[in-house]
Amino acid sequence: LFQTSLQFDNIVRYDEYFCTELLVEDDHCKGVVCIDIKSGEAKTFIANAVILATGGAGRVYQFNTNGGIVTGDGMSMAYRKGVALRDMEFVQYHPTGLPSSGILMTEGCRGEGGLLVNKDGYRYLQDYGLGPASDKPVKKAMELGPRDRLSQAFWHEREKGRTVKTEYGDVVYLDMRHLGEDYLHERLPMICHLAEQFEGVDPVTDPVPVRPAVHYTMGGIRTDIHAATSLTGLYAVGECASSGLHGANRLGSNSLTEFCVFGKVAGETAADFVKKQAPVTFSDSLQQQAQAALDGINALRRQSGNESIADIRKALTLTMEDHCGIYREEKLLKAGLDEVNALIERYQHIEIKDKSEAFNTELLMAYELGMLLDVAKAMLVSALNRTESRGAHQRLEPEYTERDDENFLKH
Ligand SMILES: Cc1cc2nc3c(=O)[nH]c(=O)nc-3n(C[C@H](O)[C@H](O)[C@H](O)COP(=O)(O)OP(=O)(O)OC[C@H]3O[C@@H](n4cnc5c(N)ncnc54)[C@H](O)[C@@H]3O)c2cc1C
Repeated sequence: LFQTSLQFDNIVRYDEYFCTELLVEDDHCKGVVCIDIKSGEAKTFIANAVILATGGAGRVYQFNTNGGIVTGDGMSMAYRKGVALRDMEFVQYHPTGLPSSGILMTEGCRGEGGLLVNKDGYRYLQDYGLGPASDKPVKKAMELGPRDRLSQAFWHEREKGRTVKTEYGDVVYLDMRHLGEDYLHERLPMICHLAEQFEGVDPVTDPVPVRPAVHYTMGGIRTDIHAATSLTGLYAVGECASSGLHGANRLGSNSLTEFCVFGKVAGETAADFVKKQAPVTFSDSLQQQAQAALDGINALRRQSGNESIADIRKALTLTMEDHCGIYREEKLLKAGLDEVNALIERYQHIEIKDKSEAFNTELLMAYELGMLLDVAKAMLVSALNRTESRGAHQRLEPEYTERDDENFLKH
């Protein structure tokens, strides 16, 4: 996409811009406010259509496979303007992340014959309806079972005390030693490299510690089949959107397909919409909104307080892991919601120590934290309200452990 965009003179790129807010006039999204990261200057863009493609929100959780930018910004910006979010309770865990970094040990490891074993070296998946255990990989069985079932099995093993405690939480082992050095280096060279670099483990000689890590958010900004949101002029595509395509649990690789298809749809729909509009003007009302947003950025820079961004963020991600993780129940979800509300209150008292203008990453972290808090709250409230189990949302209460299609066969 980057290279393609460079080939067109009529595409103006604004690299290193961080978007903080949507501008809305008469229920029509008419632009955005951004920080130019290179200079620190706040800038306003007005337009008849805005397409959000800001990615998912996996960083709401402590253990995740996602990049540092996956902080739910688009979801939060839309939500703050009253745009509908949907399916926020559906959060996919990947069963085999490296504990210290979340880096993925891909399904390919298990496809080649890697085994998941507990602290006793036992292939525990056979105890959770995924067996029988065979020597060769079998599609949809044991280690090649669905991501959610494998993550749930890990949770049960941990409850039974059959996982291994580490400073990064409990782990099980991905054992690939039997595949042999030549085979591993030929078929999984990157995996060997990553395990050594990030975990200090050579898969040829040692089992690799792994644990479930949040991988994908099925929920997001509600869109229709044309990528349009509930706000006129606002479109969303990719992981920030909830097009409904992934249901309660995305199948691996469907994300790329989704944004290739809906990226085109969003572009075409937005272009058609813009052609039918009068040219957008920087009206008094938009100017006032933009000014308020710019004042907000400056106020946040200058604000003094006694709360640390890092402390709140750590508390948030651990709270989500403990209260809205692989399995959920009302008691935990409510306690998590109370905790997140308390963190939202503490967030009002943060102070940005870095007062510089250019590349002020602390300022961006502050914005991201505010957005993460919004998204976390939406996830908790949605999870509380879905009193059934489906896909990536599993409830522990005996009356909610099954699908309830009568009441919940809906987004
Ligand atoms: C390790 C890993 C492996 C994966 N493997 C696969 C796979 O094999 N197949 C598959 O289909 N899917 C896979 N996925 C999922 C898939 O990669 C993601 O769902 C997909 O990349 C999301 O694309 P996106 O364009 O929606 O968002 P992203 O790729 O996350 O891009 C979002 C962009 O928005 C920018 N942005 C965010 N907030 C702001 C802001 N406030 N202002 C300005 N810019 C902002 C970010 O900097 C970023 O450039 C994988 C995910 C991970 C983590």
